Amino acid sequence: MTTTVVDDVQARELRHVLQTYRRQPVTFVRGEGVRLFDSEGRGYLDLLSGIGVCALGYGHPRLVAAITEQTNRLLHTSNLFYHSLQGELAERLTTLSGLSRAFFCNSGTEANEACLKFARRYWHTRGEKRTKIVALEESFHGRTIGALSVTSDEHYRQPFEPLLGDVTWVSNQDPAQLLATVTGDTALIIVEPIQGEGGVYPLTPAFAAAINEASRRTGAIVIADEVQSGSGRTGYPFYSAAIGLKPHLMALGKALGGGIPIGATLIDDEVARTISFGDHGTTYGGNLLACRAALTVVDELVGGGLMAHVGRLGQHIGTRLRALASRHSCIVDVRGAGAMWGLELNRDAGPIVPLALERGVVVNRTAERVIRLLPPYVITDAEFDEGLERLDAALAAFGVQG
Ligand SMILES: *Cc1c(COP(=O)(O)O)cnc(C)c1O
Repeated sequence: MTTTVVDDVQARELRHVLQTYRRQPVTFVRGEGVRLFDSEGRGYLDLLSGIGVCALGYGHPRLVAAITEQTNRLLHTSNLFYHSLQGELAERLTTLSGLSRAFFCNSGTEANEACLKFARRYWHTRGEKRTKIVALEESFHGRTIGALSVTSDEHYRQPFEPLLGDVTWVSNQDPAQLLATVTGDTALIIVEPIQGEGGVYPLTPAFAAAINEASRRTGAIVIADEVQSGSGRTGYPFYSAAIGLKPHLMALGKALGGGIPIGATLIDDEVARTISFGDHGTTYGGNLLACRAALTVVDELVGGGLMAHVGRLGQHIGTRLRALASRHSCIVDVRGAGAMWGLELNRDAGPIVPLALERGVVVNRTAERVIRLLPPYVITDAEFDEGLERLDAALAAFGVQG
């Protein structure tokens, strides 16, 4: 029997890499546009973009040129010195969001962690001992102790308890419950405008209005975790704006750097005024390479017309997915916006992922029964349809199996 590259890679990882991920037996070695190629030379249409990261697809000429030029010039200098790109990126992001300042870090989790710290700092500065948190059922905010404390999944949380206390969970469908839960003791409310890992649940404008009202009444800080739904993913700069949510703090990550790790916390003026020198910091956060990549992504979104493209694409995807659902009785719901969609099945969607890979399309299963699609923003209608045809075939095989 001949061993493949995948076998060798797998065997070495099994010996030396901490076993925290259950990976598919595929080794990608190259990408081009919205296509990935594996070590055996097989091509795949990518409807996942590395979990919502590679917004510009693979080998995007402007992104490649920008990070190549920056790599040759200067990668990193630390936050002990100025460089010109943090201010530029902060200016772009605050203009897009209506918030007033940015803090840069390296991941979505860190962006949320900074939100939690900044909310704590705000109440500390105001001399109020508020520690109560309101978070949503089906939420995901990351795996560090703080971010994990506001992530609802028991399976992720339980082995690491005790976490931050005083978290009350509210259904994402029940604005009245939210209004009743947020009181004068509530320090912060943290929500994903579209819950990603939890199964792609967009919050309704009515739910957003309830959050705004609860905050206005009690002073509770509102944190929008836009790590997955932001940075143009839904055809809006941030999905908060689409549903009328008015956050004081916003967490960004994933697509922001198009594949170069960067996270950001955006902060309104009221909270920003309570933060002092030395309150927070990071070695890598907002380095030249990361900011250069993010500036290129933002340029494409706004100047390059990519955000408008994602908005139009979302209409097309919605129509196509609803047609797909009408052909497969195992699909019970279709939810999403722009380039962020979930197909909920009436059973575990796990087996779909390898069936789809065998047919040359990359998709993801989340929340047990949901097939999640997070295609690169640059995908065309025709390319999406090609991927969907392959997913259609995988669903047909799934139906036959089970
Ligand atoms: C992915 C994600 C995170 C965590 O981001 P990392 O970059 O993995 O740390 C946090 N919140 C949401 C909504 C996410 O989708």
